[in-house]
Parts: sequence; structure tokens; C-alpha cells
Amino acid sequence: MITVVGSINMDLVVKTDNFPKQGETTLGNLYTTVPGGKGANQAVAVARLGSAVQMIGAVGQDAFGNELLAGLKSEGVLIEQVKRTDGTSGIANILLSEGDNRIIVVPGANHSVTTGEIDALADQLVASELVVMQLEMPISVVQRTLEICHESGVPSILNPAPASGFTAEMLPFCTYLTPNETEAEEIFGKNWEKALEKYPNRLVVTLGQKGAQFYDGEKHVLVAGFPAKAVDTTGAGDTFNGALATALVEGKEFEWAVRFANAAASLSVEKFGAQGGMPKRSTVLERMA
Ligand code: ADP
Repeated sequence: MITVVGSINMDLVVKTDNFPKQGETTLGNLYTTVPGGKGANQAVAVARLGSAVQMIGAVGQDAFGNELLAGLKSEGVLIEQVKRTDGTSGIANILLSEGDNRIIVVPGANHSVTTGEIDALADQLVASELVVMQLEMPISVVQRTLEICHESGVPSILNPAPASGFTAEMLPFCTYLTPNETEAEEIFGKNWEKALEKYPNRLVVTLGQKGAQFYDGEKHVLVAGFPAKAVDTTGAGDTFNGALATALVEGKEFEWAVRFANAAASLSVEKFGAQGGMPKRSTVLERMA
């Protein structure tokens, strides 16, 4: 079983031809709500690829909370450990215009999770084959989860997004760290390629359509991305992380796992929405063939 400790949001997406300037009102041409949140996205990515996965997190008592839980359940994600709190579910207000986006995230219920609750769920973490985290939860919760995993020898993936939540204390406790290029630069500086050498087969930097890079102990390995007809790259990183988790739990060799993750993520960008394009296992294997 893979456990994802992370955010569950409703994405409120508005498409417009013009972003409003300060004080201005503009007309949009599409409004839609789609389930998101990096944690939920990564859990759905795992479920689509056929691994058992449970979610630890929180949603509100609001209508979005009902919808988000029903969505996860219908994907086969176990939701027994998702708490319901008073107050609102997390939302991301996403404005899209001609390939550009502006996003405001309101964490809501996601930030109600406490370290005490994580301690109470320690047996769930310890029983997991691998635990996946991102940084849309309180930093103390991520740190505590990493510590429990580390103490009990459970491998963990930390996807340090958004990187503003990353602290240096997290590094010794996570098994794998998966920043994108911007996050890698924020965490390790412009010279992040040097940092790869310090964390062989542990630190993998995703590079958009170029693929992903890591250091294998002897040399740098650039695992090429798969060509894709990109429609919406939201959730590419989430698919990458879910797929990487799946392959690692299956005991696959690191480079193969990264290649599998690239293939899964390349399929995810071909459809609208973070979860919309997340592929099934057979489709990923076809792309790799
Ligand atoms: P994030 O989505 O977190 O910003 P990246 O942009 O690095 O992260 O994308 C994550 C992964 O998704 C990449 O390593 C790659 O495998 C895949 N990917 C992203 N964009 C594309 C694209 N345009 N074509 C093919 N694969 C892509």
C-alpha cells in the first residue's frame, strides 16, 4: 500500500481572453470545477496505475468536501483516514489565459491537519510500502511524517512543491526528493546539478518535456521525456510522482522507474485538467515500448 499525505483541493478554473487589471472586470468564457490538490492528484495517479493507495489529509464539511471524497473513492483511493473539519475545503482559484495562468490557493481544511493527528496515524505510515508527500500541508506535519517514515525504515518521496515550504531539515529524512527545475534552483541554487551528485539515486529533477535528471553514483543520467501533444501541463509533476512511487514499490530499478514516470507524465499533459489525462498502466507501457 502507498500512502499519500497531502492536499485535497477543488480547482475553480476560469478561462478568459484577458486577465483583469487592478480594479477591472473582464468576461470569462469558461468556468469549471475540477478536483485537484497535489496530494489528491498524486493519489489518483497511483490508483490509475493499479497500485493500492490511501490518502491522509482533510476536507471541509462543505459541498466541495463531499464531491472531493466521492471523486477519490470512485478512483479507488482509500479515504478512511481523510478527516472532515468545520470550515471550507481547500481550493485553488485558477485563471487561464492563452497558455498563461494565475493561481491563488486557499489551503482551508488542508492546514487543519496537526502533528498530533499524524502521530495517531503512525501505524498507518509504518504499515505502508512507501509514503508520498508534497508541501501543501503544514510544514510541521510533513516533517513529522518524514521522521516517522525514517525511524521505521519506510521509504518516502518528498515532492517539494511549492518550494517555499521546503526546509533543509527535511532532506536527511526523505528517501527521494523530486523537485522540478524551478524548485531545484530555489532549494539548491543555480548550481543544482552539483547537488545531484550529493544524493545519488535519491534526488531527481524533472525538466518538463526534456524529461528528468539524476546522478547514479558514477555519472549524470538524463532520462529523456516522451514527445507529447501538450494540451494542459497542470499535474504533469503529480503524475510523475505517482508513477515513480508505483514503480519503486514494485521494486523497479531507479532509471526504469524514472522512465516510467516520464512516460506517464507525458500522457497526462495530453488532456485537460490535472487528473483528466492521468493514464492507466497499459497505456504507459505502450508508450514506453
Ligand atoms: P511540474 O509539472 O511539477 O512543473 P515538470 O514541468 O518538470 O514538472 O514536468 C514533470 C514531468 O512531466 C517531466 O519530467 C516530464 O516527464 C513530463 N512532462 C512535462 N511537460 C511535458 C511535455 N510538454 N511533453 C512531455 N512530457 C512532459
